[in-house]
Amino acid sequence: MRSGQCLCGACRYEIDGEPVVVAHCHCLDCQRLSGAGHTTGAMFPEPGVRLTGSVATYDATSEAGNVVTRLFCGQCGSPLFGRNTGMPGFMTVSVGTLDAPDDLTPQVAIFTRTRRAWDVMDPALATYEAQPGWKPSDDA
Ligand SMILES: [Zn+2]
Ligand SMILES: [Zn+2]
Repeated sequence: MRSGQCLCGACRYEIDGEPVVVAHCHCLDCQRLSGAGHTTGAMFPEPGVRLTGSVATYDATSEAGNVVTRLFCGQCGSPLFGRNTGMPGFMTVSVGTLDAPDDLTPQVAIFTRTRRAWDVMDPALATYEAQPGWKPSDDA
């Protein structure tokens, strides 16, 4: 079981199960969301996620036409989770909010076409110019 929380502690969560993918995302929305060069997210099956606290949400439409819902603490603003209608049944946790983030190792970097030159990444990572066609069900 993994756990985590927002900056102020008003929102906490627990996650059962293993992530299907751990990825850095350099898309422009993630740059705005994080205020940094990328977000780092781990995607888990949604039934294993338990979230408590006053979570606020924000919906935006992705380039592929899916609705991306961001879940964040309504008090301190920490980005906690993302949900995408293109990946039903999964939630992506912001890895930096985990109590033990060292447990997870990012495998891929996506939307590298908008990666900032100063956002230097491990060259050994698999990279994708945009969103890869991969879906969690492809591994099943
Ligand atoms: Zn908070
Ligand atoms: Zn992104």
